Amino acid sequence: MSKNLTKRADDYSKWYNELVVKADLAENSAVRGCMVIKPYGYAIWEKMQAELDRMFKATGHQNAYFPLFVPKSLFEAEEKNAEGFAKECAVVTHYRLQNDPDNEGKLRVDPEAKLEEELVVRPTSEAIIWNTYKGWIQSYRDLPILINQWANVVRWEMRTRLFLRTAEFLWQEGHTAHATEAEAIAETEQMNKVYAEFAENFMAIPVIKGVKTESERFAGAVDTHCIEALMQDGKALQAGTSHFLGQNFAKAFDVKFTNKEGKLDHVWATSWGVSTRLMGALIMTHSDDQGLVLPPNLAPFQVVIVPIYKSDEQLEAITAVVSKLKSSLENNNISVKFDDRDTYRPGAKFAQHELQGVPLRIAIGPKDLENGTVELARRDTLTKEVVSIEGIEEKISDLLKTIQSDLFQKALAFRESHITEVDNFDDFKNTLETKGGFISAHWDGTAETETKIKELTKATIRCIPYDSKIEAGNCVFTGNPSKQRVLFAKAY
Ligand code: AMP
Repeated sequence: MSKNLTKRADDYSKWYNELVVKADLAENSAVRGCMVIKPYGYAIWEKMQAELDRMFKATGHQNAYFPLFVPKSLFEAEEKNAEGFAKECAVVTHYRLQNDPDNEGKLRVDPEAKLEEELVVRPTSEAIIWNTYKGWIQSYRDLPILINQWANVVRWEMRTRLFLRTAEFLWQEGHTAHATEAEAIAETEQMNKVYAEFAENFMAIPVIKGVKTESERFAGAVDTHCIEALMQDGKALQAGTSHFLGQNFAKAFDVKFTNKEGKLDHVWATSWGVSTRLMGALIMTHSDDQGLVLPPNLAPFQVVIVPIYKSDEQLEAITAVVSKLKSSLENNNISVKFDDRDTYRPGAKFAQHELQGVPLRIAIGPKDLENGTVELARRDTLTKEVVSIEGIEEKISDLLKTIQSDLFQKALAFRESHITEVDNFDDFKNTLETKGGFISAHWDGTAETETKIKELTKATIRCIPYDSKIEAGNCVFTGNPSKQRVLFAKAY
């Protein structure tokens, strides 16, 4: 596997694209804007899924599955949602192909097989789900409904990037129904918190929790909560969203219930999602010029063992020791791969595992067998040491925890040093250009100002952070009064 990655400092975006392909995570496909996720990349996604799924279930949710297609009449029922997604919809109009009489050997759409009602390929599933919930909810006893689905969705994105923005992507979408407004708001906040905990504790990615402004809000939502992360190039990435939908979908689909007082009321709703975009966040938060750096929690295998040998006898002797070591590490819940491929030399294996971000590498040769040692290398710091095999399980177990927390601390220090408070527009532009990152500034609360700032600088309001304190100030652009700072950044 050839390395020769472009350096981040030379061309960050080229570095990213090369890394995704060379580390064997994903590649572009024959379908415009759609990617193939390769086994190594998919194994990382599966780890994310498993942990998120555990967290969703721990907060009372169950999984279910709804159809890929949404009849157009249902799709358009919630007008704002439909309007927001209309420009990105793939639509099925026919259900059959036939031989083309004018073009031998080719197929064409059978004009007789036109669907009576066109089907939208779901860009998000509120419509089909709320149409279904209508049949499930009559009384307060039927509430809450706490459902998640793991699925693919399609948004016809014009400018796509592997993982970050694809036309089809994998995600989970939670859709909950509640008897009261307060309960639905609490659910929205809870799930944003779940996302933040997952990003920080599991992916080692520090995030800022906050609320979106009206213009950045999910189409059809009353409020959108989000977690925002900062990438190494100083651009922000929306890593997850949780929406309070009010009664908008219940009204559009006429979902009413009898409350405890015996009165009819519309149901309150939330929806929340994270996608394969998280893979992009992972890559751009931790990786370096040598390739991928994986937090141990997400590594398909945490330790790789490479034998160094010249003869078959040496390999045999090493294999005997490694087999024991491997199973005792596995007994300590450490995942291990023994890379005994005889088709690659150790140097090539080292390079590959470095590129693919395996947190720890053990090399073991005949000298080590004599001394009862191995060479242990850390991917995150690229440091090596010779250690005794005796008691190595505990050492590795501790080291994996250290790597996980060091990666988070490093990313946090970077993020903290890239939040700049700014009080005038010259400083705003200057900071964006020279340093990037989040800019904490006062804003007058109007969409016009937000749009103008975006036109002039490409920076958008990423969120109004939960912890943004109330302080009187003046809008960085208009000078009009403002009551708190918001976070601006250029974003993916
Ligand atoms: P939304 O339904 O728009 O709130 O998006 C839910 C999640 O999917 C958010 O975390 C988005 O950042 C992410 N997302 C939105 N569009 C895409 C896309 N084209 N590719 C990958 N992820 C996306």
